[in-house]
Amino acid sequence: MCIFCKIVEGEIPSNKVLENDDFIAFHDLYPKAPIHILIIPKEHVACFQEVSGEMMAKMTPFIQEVATLTGVDKSGYRLTTNNGDDGGQEVHHLHFHLMGGAKLPFEHRSDDTHSSL
Ligand code: 5GP
Ligand code: ZN
Repeated sequence: MCIFCKIVEGEIPSNKVLENDDFIAFHDLYPKAPIHILIIPKEHVACFQEVSGEMMAKMTPFIQEVATLTGVDKSGYRLTTNNGDDGGQEVHHLHFHLMGGAKLPFEHRSDDTHSSL
């Protein structure tokens, strides 16, 4: 079972922001911005390239609600997903990074040590 499936099952604790029947949003363990939330489907989908349009249609309003709840809907945010090896994907369970709370630098990879945030 992948680590995000373990978070879904409650085997690994997470700091949850929002949850419904299909998705969970929780704080990234190693935040790269003042607000850095991960948003995942409960169903294991490996990456963006494999997600269905139906799931994305449900996920979009969930992500927007997370942005509103964390207060970045007005101030702005960056929403990214790393897909596959060249995209720098480290956890192979679809997730979107929602980052905000400050002006963001261009780099936002998890191994970026140059961020001033
Ligand atoms: P990726 O590089 O796959 O796009 O991003 C994976 C993200 O998951 C990284 O930002 C990393 O900090 C985060 N992460 C890895 N393991 C855990 C964990 O056990 N809990 C939480 N909350 N975040 C994690
Ligand atoms: Zn998984």
